[in-house]
Amino acid sequence: MRSATARLREIAGLTHAATLRREGAPIPLKPLPQWDNGRDVVVIGDAAGVVAPSSGEGIYYAMDCARRVSQAAHQALKTGNSACLKQGRKSFMKQHGRVFWILGVMQYFWYQNDKRREKFVKICEDRDVQRLTFESYMNKELARKDPMAHVRIFLKDMAHLLGLART
Ligand SMILES: Cc1cc2nc3c(=O)[nH]c(=O)nc-3n(C[C@H](O)[C@H](O)[C@H](O)COP(=O)(O)OP(=O)(O)OC[C@H]3O[C@@H](n4cnc5c(N)ncnc54)[C@H](O)[C@@H]3O)c2cc1C
Repeated sequence: MRSATARLREIAGLTHAATLRREGAPIPLKPLPQWDNGRDVVVIGDAAGVVAPSSGEGIYYAMDCARRVSQAAHQALKTGNSACLKQGRKSFMKQHGRVFWILGVMQYFWYQNDKRREKFVKICEDRDVQRLTFESYMNKELARKDPMAHVRIFLKDMAHLLGLART
């Protein structure tokens, strides 16, 4: 990463420019198994690991996570029962767990090396893939309306995997 940044500076003619600030931002792509300490602390958003694998989308999930955790915290305060804090994670995972799991599998499979990444990019040129992805992205749930589109995508995926598709 450092040499890539140095090269970028060089290409842009900024080799001798002063560096004002260095920043790093690792993105947590897996919900942590526990968000609260069982007493009086509970984390949300990036701190809870709710950034979607494959896409890196974390803003919507941070906000939804915050809403659910604040309701759980409200219950904990109202009842004096800190076990209520766990409800935040439970409700979030019930709503989004499957999407996170699927995106995690996709990331594991397609991001393993450059060759697979290129194939993935090729698959994303497909109109069915773009439409279903857009619907899932906008509605925050898996698009199921068009089963034939899923079949077409499956067949195209297989063609890419087996090297039968045109590149
Ligand atoms: C380069 C990059 C690009 C991204 N692009 C996208 C995108 O296109 N779409 C998308 O959905 N998501 C994107 N994300 C992810 C998204 O930004 C995060 O998932 C989301 O902002 C998480 O929200 P958060 O409230 O949990 O954390 P943050 O937004 O990081 O908020 C945490 C806040 O706490 C403050 N803070 C930290 N320590 C302390 C302290 N001790 N005292 C007081 N304040 C403190 C920080 O300054 C910060 O303002 C991107 C992330 C990165 C790094």
